[in-house]
Amino acid sequence: ASALARAESLIGSIPDYPQPGIVFRDITPLLADAAALRTTIDALIEPFEGRFDVVAGIEARGFLLAGAAAIAAGKGLVPIRKAGKLPRPAATVSYALEYGTAEIEMHDDLPAGTRVLLLDDVLATGGTLEAGRELVARLGAEVVGTAVLLEIDALGGREVLGGDVHAVFHV
Ligand code: 5GP
Repeated sequence: ASALARAESLIGSIPDYPQPGIVFRDITPLLADAAALRTTIDALIEPFEGRFDVVAGIEARGFLLAGAAAIAAGKGLVPIRKAGKLPRPAATVSYALEYGTAEIEMHDDLPAGTRVLLLDDVLATGGTLEAGRELVARLGAEVVGTAVLLEIDALGGREVLGGDVHAVFHV
């Protein structure tokens, strides 16, 4: 637990980034520390050990965790990308942002029934992870777990995800 507490202490808070009034949670100091990264990745995947076939990470910071988590678990990695980046036929889901909409995509050849652990760095309002879940489901695969490094409790993302999310840290 003290190793996790030390890892948590490395998450920074950057006031007024990217806009005035927003406090941005900066996970890069945690990622840069070998022991903190290892401890955090282990805690991220531990509840789902043995129950998933691939890790899916959401662009862009979700990729940073997904690569490490896939290797730690001995599983493969599937990228969920922003629209227009994937070279082969892909499924697309649109979701609402504070201003406008965003689209994420996944190659559409994930075998039906594949058990997916869905990862991102931060859970804020929940829109991104909910869209990720919808994308995996649309391909006929199964989301067996949704996990984040940090949940911002006050933004209510957990309710959007029906309470079904594992967060290593909370703020
Ligand atoms: P949501 O869709 O839950 O509102 O926002 C989550 C997405 O926005 C994640 O993909 C995450 O990378 C990004 N995000 C939102 N707020 C923060 C933050 O304070 N720090 C970091 N690192 N990412 C954030």
